[in-house]
Amino acid sequence: MMSHLKKDLLVLDRDGTLIQDYPYENKVENFRILRLVVEGLKLLKDRFDFIIHTNQSGIARGKSSLKELQEMHLHLEKEFLKEDIAFLKIFFCPHATTENCICRKPSPELVRVYAKEQGYELSKAWVFGDRGTDVDLGKNFGGNSALLLTGFGVQELNQDPGVHRRADFVAANLFQAATFLRKRKLQKIVPRNEIGKLAADLRQQGKKIVTLNGSFDLMHFGHRSILKEAKAQGDVFIVALNTDESIRGNKGPARPINSLQARQQMMSTYDEVDFITDFSEPTPVQLLEEIKPAVHVNGSEYGENCVEAPTVKKHGGRIHIFNLVEGFSTSKMLAGELNPEDAFRNS
Ligand SMILES: [Mg+2]
Ligand SMILES: [Zn+2]
Repeated sequence: MMSHLKKDLLVLDRDGTLIQDYPYENKVENFRILRLVVEGLKLLKDRFDFIIHTNQSGIARGKSSLKELQEMHLHLEKEFLKEDIAFLKIFFCPHATTENCICRKPSPELVRVYAKEQGYELSKAWVFGDRGTDVDLGKNFGGNSALLLTGFGVQELNQDPGVHRRADFVAANLFQAATFLRKRKLQKIVPRNEIGKLAADLRQQGKKIVTLNGSFDLMHFGHRSILKEAKAQGDVFIVALNTDESIRGNKGPARPINSLQARQQMMSTYDEVDFITDFSEPTPVQLLEEIKPAVHVNGSEYGENCVEAPTVKKHGGRIHIFNLVEGFSTSKMLAGELNPEDAFRNS
């Protein structure tokens, strides 16, 4: 008999994660699947089984009936089935926050019991959600969680200053979280103390090395064209990310939103990027001294005479300047000026 690989469990929040959030309501006429949710779940369906876990205190508050909730869930299942996406279970908590029930997120009890019955390994399970309670659910059952900035995610990030550190990954939207889980290539991540040797080997093979550095905290779709343009300048593209401490030193204690590990893993999902390393110094000058790139790519805000230029030119390299894509920036997203639904996509 063929052995078959057990899938891992993905616990999905409902409102603000899969569908538009209308707080406390369950109205089928308002039903809208968030953009790119279907595409994200399709990326994951061969590796994960999906269940939903939703807090619905609107029922205890009298703002929604159990009948409306059930109609909503029938409709939701039907709409996702049209896309060939099935949820094995929909858990909901109808209670008020004051009732101290065991079914309200972040209580892990429902997921814990389900995983035990069905034989899922909780350390490999993930939660995707737009609230701190979703992040904590994953932590409470001993698994992993991604905070999505759709729904209330941006507000949550602004109001709960520790939430991003409790999450394993902060993603603009579900599609980005799915890309992160599905496309990470950990072998691309090279420790800082090994990058010089790797670069020397590559140069010896006649490879033209391209470098780019930055914090790349929350990747959005504007980054894709920068990475493409950079890769086009040579043969092997190395991205160096600022360490968490060096970002905190520069941008204050609220950044980075994603840890170095998460940022490196997200960067590894891009086909254009060959290797990823890190640096903790205020400038990448020492790093470039070790890598000796043929081309160092920098944003137009720094210009041809950037701090890196003398080091790069000394070793026969050149600086390539790119222009930032207007309209897409992390700050805009965090200020609510860019809908996270549209901030990350596969094109
Ligand atoms: Mg939610
Ligand atoms: Zn409950």
